[in-house]
Amino acid sequence: MSFFGRNRNPRQIRRSPTPGREGSSPPSPSYYEPGDGQDGGANSNSLVPPTLQKKPPPLYLCSPFADAALVKGNFKTIVMLPKYVDIMEWVAVNIYDFFTNLNEFYGCIAETCTAQSCPTMSAGPSLNYLWTTREGKQVSLPAPTYIDYVVTSVQQLLEDENVFPNNANHAFHPSFPSTVKTVYRQLLRVFAHIYHAHFGAILHLRSEPHFNSLFAHFLAFGREYQLLEIRDIKGEVNSPTVGVGALWERWKEKGILAE
Ligand SMILES: [Zn+2]
Repeated sequence: MSFFGRNRNPRQIRRSPTPGREGSSPPSPSYYEPGDGQDGGANSNSLVPPTLQKKPPPLYLCSPFADAALVKGNFKTIVMLPKYVDIMEWVAVNIYDFFTNLNEFYGCIAETCTAQSCPTMSAGPSLNYLWTTREGKQVSLPAPTYIDYVVTSVQQLLEDENVFPNNANHAFHPSFPSTVKTVYRQLLRVFAHIYHAHFGAILHLRSEPHFNSLFAHFLAFGREYQLLEIRDIKGEVNSPTVGVGALWERWKEKGILAE
């Protein structure tokens, strides 16, 4: 479903943000530590040289973590446009919620994300996102700086009445669809970085069911309203893959997400 060119109804009251969690946790390894005797594991007692050992999958793709969820079943019904609600309003309210929840998750693990631990905005073994400056220049930034820029810019947009009008008499700008697509792509990058670099900290907080459900909801909504391209989720052809692209595939196979 596309929300381009739809008329709007009076604005609904925005849902209040979900209460956040306090505290933080020490850095944890991002990769599964084998040694359980399974084939393919990089056992420390193995005679195979480390360079020839098969790299284990990241923790977020391992059972039971990959399938831990608060929401059971398919997300199709959750993302469907409710009756009598304008599609622009629906997209605006949901983006506000995704941003608020993701920002709170990041706040919980922010102490583990430093310029030393994350000198680049990584989201896969060989994928580092670049930030585009106002002059159109692409620069590599430490992940906490990159994420700070994302949070600040999205916050500014959400507070801008010309972009996210709070008043029913104030129409959405024609550029709203393209603006929210940009926001969505940036939020995806923050999810991708947390999964890639800080999933251990999410596990430490025992928040993986909550975080997985938030991300699955985010993906389902993004695909339903054409806010996310497949290349954003999986990476460009002939480019480094996005780590969470495999999670998306897995959830589609399990029927959690639609094709
Ligand atoms: Zn980080």
